[in-house]
Amino acid sequence: MKKRIIVIGGGVAGMQTALRLAEQGAAVLLVEKESELGGKLRHWHVLFPSFTPASEVLTELRRRINASDIEVLTGAEAVALAPKSVTLRDGRELACDSVVLCSGFTLFDASIKEEYGYGIYDNVFTSVDLERMFREGRVAKADGTRPRRIAFLHCVGSRDEKVCQQHCSKVCCITGVKQAMEIKRLFPEADVFNFYMDIRMFGPGYEEMYREAQQRYNIHFVRGRISEASPTIDGRVQIKAEDTLTGRPLRMSVDMLILLVGMRSNDDLAALAASAGLDRAPSGFMKPRDLFLDNVRSNVGGIFYAGAVSAPKSIGETLNEGIAAADAAARYAGL
Ligand SMILES: Cc1cc2nc3c(=O)[nH]c(=O)nc-3n(C[C@H](O)[C@H](O)[C@H](O)COP(=O)(O)OP(=O)(O)OC[C@H]3O[C@@H](n4cnc5c(N)ncnc54)[C@H](O)[C@@H]3O)c2cc1C
Ligand code: SF4
Repeated sequence: MKKRIIVIGGGVAGMQTALRLAEQGAAVLLVEKESELGGKLRHWHVLFPSFTPASEVLTELRRRINASDIEVLTGAEAVALAPKSVTLRDGRELACDSVVLCSGFTLFDASIKEEYGYGIYDNVFTSVDLERMFREGRVAKADGTRPRRIAFLHCVGSRDEKVCQQHCSKVCCITGVKQAMEIKRLFPEADVFNFYMDIRMFGPGYEEMYREAQQRYNIHFVRGRISEASPTIDGRVQIKAEDTLTGRPLRMSVDMLILLVGMRSNDDLAALAASAGLDRAPSGFMKPRDLFLDNVRSNVGGIFYAGAVSAPKSIGETLNEGIAAADAAARYAGL
């Protein structure tokens, strides 16, 4: 009898975990609540740091899954789990030998930060909206015209006690740099400003991208947080900020304001964690048993984690964690 391992969530983490488990001879069931595999990757255009099309990575992962004997169950939401079973919303209880939880993250809802006018003013967008515009080849102001001045605002829904999100989402600084460069490639004549609190370039090639953004693309990085956005009579967005390096208040009208929204813990996690007695970190993400020696194990034997379910991560980090979690789950199941 093959060992059966259930992977919950069919994003990058879940697909990679399932592939590695299948390689090791497990009977893998990949459970995804949406109608297709891919998670957030389905919504991105090109990926930092290499500008690789997201569709290329997604297509290759899906091809590998299709070529394997992994059983995929889409439109199936896990609502409870234990080391030897997973319960779906339709009431089915699926037996297994171990579980890897790869249910990812939820995007911060920018309308909660009312002062930025998302969902109220026409030309305020999120980084996720901008990815969609890039994918559709339609980057424009709400009235369809070319933007001439664009501002990005970092840390929206991250490092913000007022919205109970104190953690750094890690990938939004580099996303802001990447998106600003994409904008300049489309509109070389446009002025682009990034308003940041701190710039966090944690990965290989990121610092170089940040330099290139300034030196080659002439993107302006301003240290300061926008306190307020308001509409102008000609449909632009007026922003108020303080340049904290010079100590000067700043007021500027832009054609588009892009809010770099953070990664927060998945909405489903509280219920899933409670069903199995799993520990969560103060940020709401799942808490690994040990941050150094047992990073993909939970506090409950037989339940493992991979990807953004336990913290904000890049795709490269998520792919690596998928391998580590699969190996740990396979060993636990006796493979
Ligand atoms: C704006 C933005 C741009 C980004 N761009 C890049 C980039 O260019 N390069 C890069 O390296 N990283 C990028 N990232 C980070 C990247 O999106 C993450 O690393 C990656 O999505 C993490 O994958 P995951 O599988 O852990 O989570 P997710 O992508 O969130 O996938 C989780 C999956 O689990 C499913 N699921 C959730 N709950 C359940 C349940 N109860 N039952 C069944 N299924 C469930 C979901 O439907 C989803 O399919 C970006 C992030 C953001 C916010
Ligand atoms: S990565 Fe940058 S933009 Fe994102 S929360 Fe951290 S400091 Fe803010």
